[in-house]
Amino acid sequence: MLLPGLDGPRAPVRLRPYQARAIETLRAHVERGVRRVLLVAPTGAGKTVVAASIMEAAAARGEHVLFLAHRRELIQQTYRKLLELGVCEDDVGVIMASDRRRRPAALVQVASVDTLRARAKPRADLVFVDEAHRAEARTYKAIAAAYPDAVHVGLTATPYRADGKGLGGSYDELVVVASTRELIADGYLVEPRVLTVPASSLPDLSRVRVRGGDYDEKALGDAVNQRALVGNIVEHWLQHAACARTVVFAVSIAHSRHVVERFREAGVPAEHLDGGTPTGDRDALLARLERGETRVVGSVGTLCEGWDMPSVKCAILARPTKSTGLYLQQAGRILRPWEGIGALILDHAGCAVEHGLPQDDRVFTLDGVEKAADPKRKQPRAKTCPSCFAVLPLGTGVCPLCATFLGGATAPLRETADTLVEATHALLPLPRAPPPDDRGVLDVLRRAARTGGRLGWDAFDVTQASPATR
Ligand SMILES: [Zn+2]
Repeated sequence: MLLPGLDGPRAPVRLRPYQARAIETLRAHVERGVRRVLLVAPTGAGKTVVAASIMEAAAARGEHVLFLAHRRELIQQTYRKLLELGVCEDDVGVIMASDRRRRPAALVQVASVDTLRARAKPRADLVFVDEAHRAEARTYKAIAAAYPDAVHVGLTATPYRADGKGLGGSYDELVVVASTRELIADGYLVEPRVLTVPASSLPDLSRVRVRGGDYDEKALGDAVNQRALVGNIVEHWLQHAACARTVVFAVSIAHSRHVVERFREAGVPAEHLDGGTPTGDRDALLARLERGETRVVGSVGTLCEGWDMPSVKCAILARPTKSTGLYLQQAGRILRPWEGIGALILDHAGCAVEHGLPQDDRVFTLDGVEKAADPKRKQPRAKTCPSCFAVLPLGTGVCPLCATFLGGATAPLRETADTLVEATHALLPLPRAPPPDDRGVLDVLRRAARTGGRLGWDAFDVTQASPATR
């Protein structure tokens, strides 16, 4: 059997090359009899476009498709994308609580998992599961079991279960649509800068137990929700990201509210959002963030997945986690390009050192997390510059932000300014005698030398890119 929807000469949307390639790979798997395929696509890879173009083509051939998601935003986004691709409104039904777009005869059904679990299941030859890292949950399993003959396609940026195990129980093949690094290289995402804080400003997790794969939330809340730690978050932001639209990932409602309160005390317009915030309030709050009236939104869980506002260019990680998936979901929120502004992650949770930089290449498997690539998960996956606290790839010899020598095979720097410039010069790919107009980096290095290697983030002009100064 062919994968429904992948045949024919139709090209309803101009797919990016890697998207088309992923669809071809998926098709090849289905043609050789694989019926459950997981597509791994980082945030920003356009997984909705990939899914919607397959669904559009399937509907055009008269095939039945079911698209499952757990959140209203994902359902709306997918519905809109289908109409954009030219699917007739009458051909798309929505199964979500009392939503008026209920059209039982439609070929494509976009359904809320929570609603569909209690209702009659529509016919489907092809079943999509969005945010498929949830596919092992009982509700998803029960719905999937109603479609033993269908082709099942999962979509996720992070193919890990919450407990860190793989998704081999739900899928038989995994297709990587694109890596974060490829998307950055092609300009579809921006490379984030990651700054952390000294160990003394990170929460003490020595007494926080790990349960079901992640920290016990109650104990974690106690460990992070401390005056000094929260105050440090605000100071750090004012120093490095002031005025950038920012989302804070907190541990608990109390923690998020505390962070927001401290931001307000500092005169920064900040608001709190959690799963219990009514939909209307939430939409209004996010609109204020979009307009820049609110600069910082403290959140718990609710903005981690599937939420998208490209103008938000700073993420504060305040929730330590053992889950690489959760960390990548959070970091992924700020990587979409927006008006040339850089993305900044302020890591107050030690996540980047533990899980690696968001753009690191990862080997995804269906039977657990990155086993092949990373036999020793305990080891740090990134290093921290002791001067400016940039989080950098393990092999970095000189901090690209403040020119501090970070150890390694090369001899350490000596004291004098000239030596510093020379030594740094030798380690960075710069010409030894730069042309007069190629002064930017050297100027920074000379300033670094004068200040003993201690330069702030602002050495590289982050403020110039901040919305407030535009
Ligand atoms: Zn540095």
